[in-house]
Amino acid sequence: MIAFNVPPYVGKEMDYMKQAVENRKICGDGPFTKKCNAWLEENFHAQKALLTTSGTTALDMAMLLCDLKPGDEVILPSYTFSSTATAAVLAGARLVFVDIRPDTMNIDETKIEEAITPKTKVIIAMHYAGVACEMDTIMDIARRHGLMVVEDAAQGVMSSYKGKPLGTIGDFGCYSFHETKNYSMGEGGALIINNPAYNERAEILREKGTNRSKFFRGQVDKYTWVDFGDSYLPSELNAAYLYAQLEMADQINQDRLNSWNRYNQAFQSLKQAGKAELPTIPEGCVHNAHMYYLKCKNLQERTALISYLKEQGVLAVFHYVPLHSAPAGLKFGRFHGEDRYTTAESERLVRLPLYYKLDAKDQDKVIESVLKFYAEV
Ligand SMILES: *Cc1c(COP(=O)(O)O)cnc(C)c1O
Repeated sequence: MIAFNVPPYVGKEMDYMKQAVENRKICGDGPFTKKCNAWLEENFHAQKALLTTSGTTALDMAMLLCDLKPGDEVILPSYTFSSTATAAVLAGARLVFVDIRPDTMNIDETKIEEAITPKTKVIIAMHYAGVACEMDTIMDIARRHGLMVVEDAAQGVMSSYKGKPLGTIGDFGCYSFHETKNYSMGEGGALIINNPAYNERAEILREKGTNRSKFFRGQVDKYTWVDFGDSYLPSELNAAYLYAQLEMADQINQDRLNSWNRYNQAFQSLKQAGKAELPTIPEGCVHNAHMYYLKCKNLQERTALISYLKEQGVLAVFHYVPLHSAPAGLKFGRFHGEDRYTTAESERLVRLPLYYKLDAKDQDKVIESVLKFYAEV
């Protein structure tokens, strides 16, 4: 069976984890965490990066830093992972879902403004498949209405929009280093802070409500409890694992892009014949090959394709069931406007195997199987 995902492993991970063990420093914020933070700050020109225990907790931190009051509203797409929404709910917000664009599956920036009410505080832009949302428009709307912008860039590490790395455009950016993402530490993530006014509060929030970070820098002479907080520091073992992959980020990215481009070439014939739709990468967006997907005619055809591929030994999978129709979505939010694309497009999408070092022969088999399926329909 050709796997859908194989977590990246580049070779130096064990070495670095051994170093962390021998340093006798395996709790958070040791040398490897600092190296990862610095790598993100340098390579993405980020004002501040803080490793977290997951992409979800990076989103939790971002939403808590937005300082929401009960009844405040957060605008987000419904076609996303539960983490995007549940972070806003935990911070006390009501969810307002808006429709997506069918070309990128990202939030439709032209539908955001009409969903704004006096209670709106935050817009969450989730960059699906590592392809950027229309950030110029989103930032312009946010600035005109005094709203915060949180980028859920869990899938967008190494992608950019008009030259700016995803995660560094809004007020906060959130990355995931889960094993299903392009760079992995098993479970982990990072919060990118683009406005220095939030640095201190973020450090306190991440360190159980204490000013421990300031204390270690010698900026205060007492270490004490100063505000509410939580524990968002990953272990050094995980950070060491990640650092090996960040050092190889360009190679991993290029390898994934090669596989992505190979799929895209191979399926041009399906596109031209009007049999399937392929991903769109808008002008100004540089993506990271997080995902390759096809869009079938409808749900029935997608179900048939997935089971055909399974018979051929290929694991292909569908993606999000829209959150607004999920039990928690109904409880915590509402959909503003018409669901023209969210449900319909989500039912057509199928993701193909794509991971670092996907074998060319395996990929050929995936391609052949897809083409064979479409030759028969
Ligand atoms: C993976 C993902 C997350 C959550 O990241 P974890 O590290 O698994 O907590 C959040 N949002 C999106 C869009 C994701 O793809």
